[in-house]
Amino acid sequence: MTRIHNYYAGPAALPVEALEAANKELIEWAGTGMSVMETSHRSKEYDEVHNTTISLFKELIGLNDDWTVLLLQGGASTQFAMIPMNLLCDGRSADYILTGAWSQKALKEAKIAGTTRVAGTSEKDGVFLRIPKQDELDLDPNATYCHVTSNNTIFGTQWHVFPDTGNVPIVCDMSSDILSRKIDVSKFGLIYAGAQKNLGPSGVTLVAIRKDLLEKCNSGLYTMLSYKTHADKNSLYNTPPTFSIYMVGQVLKWLKGKGGVEAIEKENTEKAQMIYGTIKDNPSFFSTPIDPESGSHMNYVFRLPSEDLEKQFVAEGKDAGFVGLKGHRSVGGIRISAYNANGIDSVRDFVSFMKNFAQKNG
Ligand SMILES: *Cc1c(COP(=O)(O)O)cnc(C)c1O
Repeated sequence: MTRIHNYYAGPAALPVEALEAANKELIEWAGTGMSVMETSHRSKEYDEVHNTTISLFKELIGLNDDWTVLLLQGGASTQFAMIPMNLLCDGRSADYILTGAWSQKALKEAKIAGTTRVAGTSEKDGVFLRIPKQDELDLDPNATYCHVTSNNTIFGTQWHVFPDTGNVPIVCDMSSDILSRKIDVSKFGLIYAGAQKNLGPSGVTLVAIRKDLLEKCNSGLYTMLSYKTHADKNSLYNTPPTFSIYMVGQVLKWLKGKGGVEAIEKENTEKAQMIYGTIKDNPSFFSTPIDPESGSHMNYVFRLPSEDLEKQFVAEGKDAGFVGLKGHRSVGGIRISAYNANGIDSVRDFVSFMKNFAQKNG
């Protein structure tokens, strides 16, 4: 078996253990004589998958019963609209902190639904290379919520300390770093993530919402766009993406087996030290435009001395078994995405590829 070193940003690498578990059960699962994809979402066998996935997620991220977890469709991008539609209904406004393309998209939708304010931005000349400092923020103490993107997948920055928003709950897009590190959930009112970066395959979006906020949600919405609909039916109002949910369950079992969020955070920190360390140790060859305090521990953006060398790096990387090295089209350069499933051994191989390449071409 030859598994490639997969550094794509999303959909992204899955733990091989989760794929193997699914492979074993693909034709015949849970004594049903069929796969999970082929059975009713009302069956007791599927119900077990559904509820285990929800409870494992709550356990791993550290949510108690003050929270409801929803398994929805439409990606994080649909949440950009559902969040303000559901929450921004009491005449107050919502704060948005802009740290990249995804937060800009979230704000665009919120503006359609209600009143918003930009409470901070790190945009400069069209790019976002850092996370704003607390004293740069202009927070509204009466805001319904404050929206934050915890990890900026495209620019490669991450909030290492979430902003202090006082009593205003943080609504957080954690699509690209959910369950990669410990978080203090008491700061948050809603956490959401498309699964395809750090949780599983595409097709399902996790939304965790505090029950007190759920109760205040707009009740005049289209059925499928209302959080209350999905909460009342345990995300089984209509057919959920059963196979995606099953796969998220396999990934969560793998993560729990590894020692949970605490263990994976250690690995992610070590991976970050290796990659940023290699960039720092070769300053005449590698550089990163990212503010050192804001560097993501999931997505790594860096440059080589010329665009030609970057092209060569991507091509030789592919020959050496590393894919997904090309930077996002809006940023250029190199970006690699090393999520939970990208093991430390793979990253060790990658940094030695980096060093060899620099030596040969520097
Ligand atoms: C990928 C990504 C999204 C978009 O997710 P979809 O599920 O494709 O809608 C939103 N926010 C962040 C931070 C992302 O990385």
